[in-house]
Amino acid sequence: MSSPPRVMTASKERFFLELEPPTEELRGKPHVVIVGGGFAGVKACKSFKGADVRITLIDKRNFNLFQPLLYQVATGLVSRGDVATPLRQLVGAQRNVQVLLGEVTEIQPDAKEITFNGKAMAYDYLILATGSGSTFFGHEDWRGIAPPMKILEHAEEIRRRVLMALEQAEQTADPQERRFLQTVVIVGGGPAGCELAGALSELMRKAMARDFRQLDPTTARIIVVDPGDRVLRAMPEECSTAAASELEAMGVELFFHGRVQSIVPGEVLVGTPEGDHKIEAANVFWTAGVRASHLGRKLAESTGCEVDRGGRVLVQSDFSIPNHPEIRIVGDLCSYKHTRDGKPLPGMAGPATQMGGWVAKDIRATLEGRQHKPFVWFDFGSMAVLSRLGAVADLRGIKLSGKPAWLLWAIAHLAFMPDEENRVSLLIKWLWAIVSQQRSSLLLTGMPSQHVGLEGGSAPFPMGLNNEPSIADVGGTMAQAIENFRESEQETANTHS
Ligand SMILES: Cc1cc2nc3c(=O)[nH]c(=O)nc-3n(C[C@H](O)[C@H](O)[C@H](O)COP(=O)(O)OP(=O)(O)OC[C@H]3O[C@@H](n4cnc5c(N)ncnc54)[C@H](O)[C@@H]3O)c2cc1C
Repeated sequence: MSSPPRVMTASKERFFLELEPPTEELRGKPHVVIVGGGFAGVKACKSFKGADVRITLIDKRNFNLFQPLLYQVATGLVSRGDVATPLRQLVGAQRNVQVLLGEVTEIQPDAKEITFNGKAMAYDYLILATGSGSTFFGHEDWRGIAPPMKILEHAEEIRRRVLMALEQAEQTADPQERRFLQTVVIVGGGPAGCELAGALSELMRKAMARDFRQLDPTTARIIVVDPGDRVLRAMPEECSTAAASELEAMGVELFFHGRVQSIVPGEVLVGTPEGDHKIEAANVFWTAGVRASHLGRKLAESTGCEVDRGGRVLVQSDFSIPNHPEIRIVGDLCSYKHTRDGKPLPGMAGPATQMGGWVAKDIRATLEGRQHKPFVWFDFGSMAVLSRLGAVADLRGIKLSGKPAWLLWAIAHLAFMPDEENRVSLLIKWLWAIVSQQRSSLLLTGMPSQHVGLEGGSAPFPMGLNNEPSIADVGGTMAQAIENFRESEQETANTHS
């Protein structure tokens, strides 16, 4: 680490860090670049506190997102500010850290450089923590019809679509069409799908029950479609059974052994061993597939390292890749198989946080000429919340359900939440929801479905914020869904007459 950190330029323009290093004392210190300010990246950053290094934390968003609570944004329980914290607020005060907003697009491992915002920056150590996104398994055309739930804008889009459908239902004279507008299909019976289903049922059947005149909340249908034979397959069977009973008690329909064949506005075709099954629903949401950030494949192209089918980088026991001890990959982007049973660690917040912390300590130890103990993952267990006061949890073999599991879930999530202010606001909103059954964040704002394109990068908004659409314009998918539903009704009527 003798050479001072270099900052290169891709164009003639000189990058400002070269001219103005964050503080003079950091000039010449080993430069650690962390890409991604999620669970893993922020933990790594914080674990370098007081270390004799210069850290640059780069993220394409200026905030850290607490993804496990996205379903609460999607169902109006909390708002965006409750689950996202500006990165500068989280680590900006740490003297050896500079936070930069930008999307890293290239990695040049031989030159030890990354490219972001069209510029190149040199590193001595690179920690890649860019997480994962959603995949539609080759059916990208479904994305706009069935939004996933991976980023803040997705959650808000889901909420907007649900609220719009209910508003439409309130103004619809035809009871069949009202029922259609109150039907939601959720693809995927994992934790995200189950949590969304439970929360949507509470929202559509209870929280909004007294607020509508024409609409009957008890006729709302929430259907979870999954190819397996139980929900929450990553958890023990007892938890799945408890979760299924809790969901069914809330009116959620579970459709097992079903593989989605096609999605068009207003209709999902599900293949089952008995044949295809058509479900008419105004809204479809997708929680079925995860793919690692594309930087994993970029790294594989330039270094020859291996990635698995999901795009995760197969890492060595210290999270590096062959021939590049200075590059570490952590969180959802890596596949870490150096476990007792050889199974890769799950793509969850707990492992991501532990990996980020360990890698930072390992780099510190290397720089200080010390030995560092091997990485051992501590499995705290897993849990999923299903209703206002109901959850399931598996804590290292101890299985809980109902209120005790919910209490545990609440404590764990508040403890994990990186921002103190958000902890307080979440607690207040949860308590309020428990006593009042009301939701605090049900405003219909924003644009129609353009947000769903955001995840892939910096897709431009098709409409500027000033170009506000009228209510009639909002939701091209919804309008199409209703049209398709009416056509299908007409066809059925014609067949019967
Ligand atoms: C709906 C949902 C519910 C979940 N519920 C749970 C749960 O209950 N419990 C649990 O343990 N886990 C849960 N998870 C999983 C958990 O959120 C992830 O495992 C965790 O966020 C992974 O952390 P990470 O640091 O690897 O990535 P992330 O937290 O995803 O952070 C990645 C960061 O990298 C940034 N980034 C991406 N690409 C670039 C780029 N090219 N340039 C610059 N920055 C970039 C992103 O903006 C982001 O800030 C859930 C996930 C979802 C989507």
